[in-house]
Amino acid sequence: MNDPAVEKRRSLPMLGARALVPKRASAGPPPRSVRVSVTDRCDFACTYCRPSRNDGYADGRLMTPAWKTMFEALRRAGVRRVRLTGGEPLVHPEIVAIVAHLSSLGFEDLALTTNASQLARLARPLRDAGLHRVNVSIDTLDPVRFREVTRGGDLDAVLAGIDAAIEAGFSPIKLNTVVLRGVNDDELERILLWAWERRLLPRFLEVMPIAEGAKLVAEHLVTAAEMRRALAAHLLAEEAVTEPGLGPAKYVRARHDPGLRVGFITGTSDTFCETCDRLRVSSTGVLRPCLATDDGVDAAAPARAGDAETIVEHIGLAWSMKPDGTVWKGCTEETAAGVSMRAIGG
Ligand code: SAM
Repeated sequence: MNDPAVEKRRSLPMLGARALVPKRASAGPPPRSVRVSVTDRCDFACTYCRPSRNDGYADGRLMTPAWKTMFEALRRAGVRRVRLTGGEPLVHPEIVAIVAHLSSLGFEDLALTTNASQLARLARPLRDAGLHRVNVSIDTLDPVRFREVTRGGDLDAVLAGIDAAIEAGFSPIKLNTVVLRGVNDDELERILLWAWERRLLPRFLEVMPIAEGAKLVAEHLVTAAEMRRALAAHLLAEEAVTEPGLGPAKYVRARHDPGLRVGFITGTSDTFCETCDRLRVSSTGVLRPCLATDDGVDAAAPARAGDAETIVEHIGLAWSMKPDGTVWKGCTEETAAGVSMRAIGG
């Protein structure tokens, strides 16, 4: 006789080449931290993320009522921290209402990653809607370079967005800078000091061989160790430490003011997959256990049907597909080059 549990698993809408990706022996407790790509739309086309501005978008993105069901399910499944990302979350026309809904569900931490192009007008409404924290991606302080790296982005709008976030009272505001050799690696010190002057928390990221980044790593990777050496004069000679439960960045304090810090995120020289505790939800409602695989459980249908209970079950299944981080090396695996960072959510 067929085992009903096995039959049920077979009927679930799983995606991807699961057999190829080694899984954790035990997925452990349910996911605490989830990244949601609320939209794969973006007003920038950064060279390490998209091939061009006209590379098209995914069909079947979730609409706001379906997102509400998804968020309710995440809460019921025990998720405590939600980060909205994309694409660019601030180009979603209903982003403030989405944040307000998430806020009403009482997550411990509610954060958003943005390119800040729309933040000048949205920082205050987002804060009022209950957003706790904001991270801003900014790769250069040179307007011409900025236009090149983002394929058309306006640095002044981003700087105005950062000012608005400071004024709205967000703290800490973390900055994310992807460092590319020969593109912006001569700006590390300038960005560091510029950020510290404003009491912002700069973080320097290695380019990862994911999506378009796969084409850049060989020529443009600067490792976190190199970045740290370049900034050594400004830093205490101490071991870099993570913020427990808040991701893979490792922080070092400023020599002149230990209240200031800078973060480094490896991603390529060290994939930190062993400690990864994240689940991701794509813009089309697929629950994804890893940024770098095609694995996932499609929860769009129950989300559209208002069926949070079924999504809770799907979350458990997606979590059981979490790759084993000792053998599996995330974004450095071959599958990473083929994924859409925007749809899965960076
Ligand atoms: N649009 C938002 C933004 O700009 O922050 C959110 C989405 S973006 C995909 C999230 C983050 O992923 C950004 O900080 C971006 O720099 C980073 N990112 C994208 N592709 C990357 C790659 N290949 N390597 C390293 N970081 C990458």
